[in-house]
Amino acid sequence: MKKVVKFGGSSLASAEQFKKVGEIIFADTDRRYVVPSAPGKRCASDIKVTDMLYQCYAAAEAGEKYTDLLEKIKERYQEIIVGLGLNLSLEEEFQKIESFFAEKAGKDYAASRGEYLNGIVMANYLGCEFIDAAEVIFFDEEGKFDADRTNKVLSKRLANLERAVIPGFYGSCPNGTVKTFSRGGSDITGSIVARAVKADLYENWTDVSGFLVADPHIIKNPMAIKMITYKELRELSYMGATVLHEDSIFPVRKAGIPINIKNTNKPEDEGTMIVQSTCRQAEYTITGIAGKKGFVAVNIEKDMMNTEIGFGRKVLEAFESQGISFEHVPSGIDTMTVFVHQEEFEGREQAVLSAIHRMAEPDMIELESDLALIAVVGRSMKSNRGVAARIFAALAHVNINIKMIDQGSSELNIIIGVKNSDFEGAIKAIYDIFVESQL
Ligand code: ASP
Repeated sequence: MKKVVKFGGSSLASAEQFKKVGEIIFADTDRRYVVPSAPGKRCASDIKVTDMLYQCYAAAEAGEKYTDLLEKIKERYQEIIVGLGLNLSLEEEFQKIESFFAEKAGKDYAASRGEYLNGIVMANYLGCEFIDAAEVIFFDEEGKFDADRTNKVLSKRLANLERAVIPGFYGSCPNGTVKTFSRGGSDITGSIVARAVKADLYENWTDVSGFLVADPHIIKNPMAIKMITYKELRELSYMGATVLHEDSIFPVRKAGIPINIKNTNKPEDEGTMIVQSTCRQAEYTITGIAGKKGFVAVNIEKDMMNTEIGFGRKVLEAFESQGISFEHVPSGIDTMTVFVHQEEFEGREQAVLSAIHRMAEPDMIELESDLALIAVVGRSMKSNRGVAARIFAALAHVNINIKMIDQGSSELNIIIGVKNSDFEGAIKAIYDIFVESQL
């Protein structure tokens, strides 16, 4: 068996945490390829090393003094090195970082040093090879991740290595500059490495015991999800479930490698298994609920819209022309609604409206803001009657008005739109009916 193990920032925030990670890795010889994040928060008031590096580079770029801040970063690593009793100095590495800062190497380069240095510490601690991610993870000319080139180079590089440490979060562009994924991107690196070595399992170690059926900030002690499919997870993480970076599913999904979300502080917990498909029924009719606030509904009306071929295209083109992506487009006979992110839309609102008028000549456009979208997701929904009916009943029971409903063609999800102010109440009502009452 071959396992790739990725450890998040809180799992590597201190020497104590590093020791737990060491125990986990040494407990299973299959855990051969290790992807570390940068040291995260040791307590709620702490600052992540990645954030310190961004701050540090902003000061350097502005020509301000940043040595005190860099010193604090050094201390974070030094504390770990001393706590682990390692014979390692990062002095030369920090000198290199300072000279790259002086050359204005970019904020991505700066942020990536958190993972890079933690990778060096981890490799020294485990006594295995360190591979700089800039040599094996690539972006193309346009800054998009280059999956084919990466997979080729990385799988070759790791083919003869029994064990290795590959830092998460970054890679390099064709011109050699360092580029990072978006925040939380070490999850993506773990997935890329798992695909490259054709791992049997990608273990993603974090500070929670997997995914929960709903957000614990809204539902007190929600149930854990033991098993979930990639597709279900994609829906949930897109809609706000944050345990795993939403893009990290793609590389392993291609190779059909399962992901196991595990808790470094409670390694005995089973965690959540994320799989391609399973014949195991979910414990409840739904697998999970997630949602996001802050949407605007753009309601467009035009008499005889149904007979006008190309109307929808013209409307969507108007959004495209202003660089606005849409979320959902429910429609009636002479009406069509486009859901967009309020934050993205607000600044370009009038430009979009005049583009719609120009391109599609509607009779009326009405805006409704401060809406929330909630995704109710579950592979078992397909084979269960009355799921939508139960959602409607639950929401009606707590006096929540549904603004929109959209069922994906895969019958894997039902999306409902409600007012922002009804968001938490709606999630509670849905959770109650499917999980608490197990209907
Ligand atoms: N250290 C990076 C961040 O804080 C990447 C990661 O931890 O995955 O976003």
